[in-house]
Amino acid sequence: MKSADILIIGTGVGGLFTALNLPSDKKILIITKDKCENSDSFLAQGGICVLKDESDYESYYNDTMRAGHYENRKESVEIMIRSSPEIINDLVSYGVDFERNSDGFVYTREGAHSTPRILFHEDITGEEITSKLLSAVFRLPNVTILEYNSMVDLIVDDNKCCGIVAKNEHGELYNIFAEHTVLATGGVGGLYVHSTNFRHLTGDALGVCMEHNIKLENIDYVQIHPTSYYMANHDRRFLISESVRGEGAVLLDKNGDRFTDELQPRDVVTAAIRKQMAKDNTNHVWLSLKNLSEDEIIKHFPHIYEYCREHGVNLPEDPIPVVPAQHYFMGGVWVDSDSKTSCEALYAVGEASCNGVHGKNRLASNSLLESLVFAKRAAHHIGLHDGIKASEKIKNDYENRLKQHNDYLLMRPDYVSVMRSEIEKAKENHNNGE
Ligand SMILES: Cc1cc2nc3c(=O)[nH]c(=O)nc-3n(C[C@H](O)[C@H](O)[C@H](O)COP(=O)(O)OP(=O)(O)OC[C@H]3O[C@@H](n4cnc5c(N)ncnc54)[C@H](O)[C@@H]3O)c2cc1C
Repeated sequence: MKSADILIIGTGVGGLFTALNLPSDKKILIITKDKCENSDSFLAQGGICVLKDESDYESYYNDTMRAGHYENRKESVEIMIRSSPEIINDLVSYGVDFERNSDGFVYTREGAHSTPRILFHEDITGEEITSKLLSAVFRLPNVTILEYNSMVDLIVDDNKCCGIVAKNEHGELYNIFAEHTVLATGGVGGLYVHSTNFRHLTGDALGVCMEHNIKLENIDYVQIHPTSYYMANHDRRFLISESVRGEGAVLLDKNGDRFTDELQPRDVVTAAIRKQMAKDNTNHVWLSLKNLSEDEIIKHFPHIYEYCREHGVNLPEDPIPVVPAQHYFMGGVWVDSDSKTSCEALYAVGEASCNGVHGKNRLASNSLLESLVFAKRAAHHIGLHDGIKASEKIKNDYENRLKQHNDYLLMRPDYVSVMRSEIEKAKENHNNGE
């Protein structure tokens, strides 16, 4: 058995930024399923959006709403956009280095953005941000991180959360009691055969919340990225960032002809690619970077350039074979604008949560920002409110029950198929207008 004042599950930007914004006199425990660096946050390529100045507010708001099919929660979108300059200042204070020129920040553009408003660091923005946050968390004396430890269940008493059941690296179960618990377990890519996500991200927050009737929202809103590098095997797909299209790359069919506007929202471009693949009877389409010079590619997209070379594709002459893949999860554990779930003392942040920012479809480069904004809000709310202390009875009950925990949803061999069918069920309900 372990205990902490505040327990965080996950070491992506959501979990780390929560830890960095919590009161320094609290004992914080973070657990993560794999090694600290293996989070989708490290994989983010394109960048992070920011409100450049007041004149861009309406346009940024409208782009986010349009991409989300106007199903976004307006209040959440406003909070995210208004908080973005402060978040970027925070990141810079942790040493994050965004591309600059003599006038200041350089902004790039991705699909469905009316104007360039995305900050970036080469094509490894996520690694730049998350590694700096991780270093800052390592320096905090009140934080302990346990790698290769997984949450397998929540400890809930009368809709009050007082911790989790965890599994250590040897497969042994133990309880962690905490006054506040934060779910920051990321997305659902591991449930899909084709995904750009780490395979160990299997929507575990959804699984445990389902078990305890904690409210979920839009769990069928799964975003497919139009352009991942096509390969015949089923490994994690390498992403060809949307900003490559933003900088001028074009999609081509099997005859080398352009077939769609590359800067439409992701779901629209994905549908166009799928239609073209069906028409041409191919497994992929092509992405040509001939409109960009080799120097531009090496400067802005060095990792994509290298990856392609390693796989025999020499940019810009050769086109890249690309195919749509599962990429992002707009739904999740329902939270309010302070990232509180429907269960007392339980919070959810980042991709595991649904605060409604993205509606039905995420606007490119809004997710790192959304994770950071609402992680900070969760931390502030936790700092201002008392949590739940587990009673001796609950502690004893859960200690005695540990041996029977093997039948819990997350530990069952059919977990993936259960979750996939829940997602399909939610899709049918949406299609039937429920
Ligand atoms: C290839 C790629 C490119 C992207 N590019 C961009 C971009 O350019 N801009 C942008 O804004 N967004 C981008 N995104 C999306 C963005 O990276 C994520 O939405 C965001 O980083 C999610 O952060 P998170 O903290 O919620 O989750 P993650 O960073 O995925 O972290 C989840 C953490 O939870 C842990 N975990 C999971 N389950 C358990 C469990 N049961 N027990 C213990 N620990 C657990 C994991 O080990 C991990 O540490 C991209 C995503 C991918 C995959």
